[in-house]
Amino acid sequence: EITFKETFSPLTSDELVAKEKANMDEKRFKHCIGVSETSRKLARLNNYDEDKAALAGFIHDYAKQISNERFIEAIKTQGFDQDLLNYNRAIWHGIVGTYFIKKELGITDKEILTAIWRHTTADVEMTTLDKIVFVADFIEPGRDFPGVDEARKVAFNNLDDGVGFELAHTLDFLVTNRQKIYPKTFDAYNVWSVKK
Ligand code: GDP
Ligand code: FE
Ligand code: FE
Ligand code: FE
Repeated sequence: EITFKETFSPLTSDELVAKEKANMDEKRFKHCIGVSETSRKLARLNNYDEDKAALAGFIHDYAKQISNERFIEAIKTQGFDQDLLNYNRAIWHGIVGTYFIKKELGITDKEILTAIWRHTTADVEMTTLDKIVFVADFIEPGRDFPGVDEARKVAFNNLDDGVGFELAHTLDFLVTNRQKIYPKTFDAYNVWSVKK
């Protein structure tokens, strides 16, 4: 089973892993382990703290299966931008997920919380950890979609290019399926994906 040297919370590694596991189904839990391992690998390649990246990757989808009712309640009462109510759980589980991760896992590290906040939409400014978690989420070993091999090749060669590749793929998917695009996703695409 997976363990963490430091959990950045009052919880032990075993307690944190148990809480993560109890908050999602087996398939999502496996995805989180994959993202953790890929985050570690990307951290090594980009001279970032491997253990911290592995933890951030592990908990990035902690809130993925929290109910809409709980998300809406948190958006209304915990100081979030009310415009979030115009979007859905695809956007909420990262941004609003940080509230549940603070409350239920006791994580206070700003860098970890920001990486989770940005893991779905990305942002105009991205720290190394933000990029690691964003990209690892897309290319972890369990992912299987047309283009994933190319995404892995690009990301392992250059992390910034990995971010750009992923955002272009996501925008393409959202437009094809006539999905509402969160403004940050657009803004991030303009920064990271447009050819120089
Ligand atoms: P997951 O949680 O591991 O499935 O991956 P992500 O958190 O990266 O993405 C969750 C979902 O959000 C995916 O289906 C993305 O296509 C979708 N998504 C990303 N950006 C946007 C956006 O701007 N608008 C909408 N509607 N969905 C988005
Ligand atoms: Fe996610
Ligand atoms: Fe993602
Ligand atoms: Fe994920």
